[in-house]
Amino acid sequence: MHTREIGKNLFQIELETGGFKNLICSYLINSAKITLVESGPTSSVPKLLSGLKELGIPFESVEYLAITHVHLDHGGGAGTLLKFLPNAKVLVHPRGMPHLINPEKLWSSAQTVLGFVSEFFGKPESVPKERIIPITAGTIDLGEGAKLKVIETLGHASHNLSYQESFNRGVFPGDAAGTYFPEFDVVLPTTPPPFHLEAALASLDKLISLQPTVLYYSHFGKAANAVQRLSDYKNQLQLWATIAEEGVEKNWSLEQIRDKIVANDEVFRRVVGFVKFHRIYSKTVLENCVRGFIEYAKQKQAS
Ligand SMILES: [Zn+2]
Repeated sequence: MHTREIGKNLFQIELETGGFKNLICSYLINSAKITLVESGPTSSVPKLLSGLKELGIPFESVEYLAITHVHLDHGGGAGTLLKFLPNAKVLVHPRGMPHLINPEKLWSSAQTVLGFVSEFFGKPESVPKERIIPITAGTIDLGEGAKLKVIETLGHASHNLSYQESFNRGVFPGDAAGTYFPEFDVVLPTTPPPFHLEAALASLDKLISLQPTVLYYSHFGKAANAVQRLSDYKNQLQLWATIAEEGVEKNWSLEQIRDKIVANDEVFRRVVGFVKFHRIYSKTVLENCVRGFIEYAKQKQAS
């Protein structure tokens, strides 16, 4: 079993990307108009399809594939997945749309930024333009009174969307609210370059104003105390940014900046041992996410 009922009309599908558990998941909203949130990466599409079978969902009954953004681990599998879901349309931010239609540039930049991790995710296939619904805000009718609210939450990416489902009032933040480590009940920044702190903080305020009950992280899983978590995440981003700015000013290396963050962020300290020895997170969290703050600080200094 790799599907789990996690709320009213709501299921989590563990994608086990690259054989890793608790790394990436998709969600299924079992409304009159059946909706998937996140395709996950190309390499995980077979897992997602077997999850649908496990839940008894006929492929032709899926109406929407709502992706939070086009990064390989979230929307990379959309093109491949749609070949199996004949009636599904993709919800995406208009700035993400060209990358779904022509993923070549996305793929080559992912290979540069992520290195071997991009190979775990697999190369995205193109999504036919007529199957894409570009959207930045509003409400999608899921039938029988159910709704999916669309919220533009930039910062992690210039095109990140979040969604709120009406059955449980939970929010799918994509990467706008960090990475959740369910084994430790800890959240860490998801901030690869180009990261925009002010936009990220404004997005978190937007999500807090919705007063969500729970968060459904794409990395990874359902977490309670949503509002507290979002406001803690804001503080954490500000802490990392302050240290990165000091480090850039004093010409510290990435490692020095990271060490100072670890020394000052007690939440990070609880999980740093685990992250250090994780094949994926050691690359993404310990390198790319710190680098996102450094690039941000450098830009701020130059402006
Ligand atoms: Zn991600």
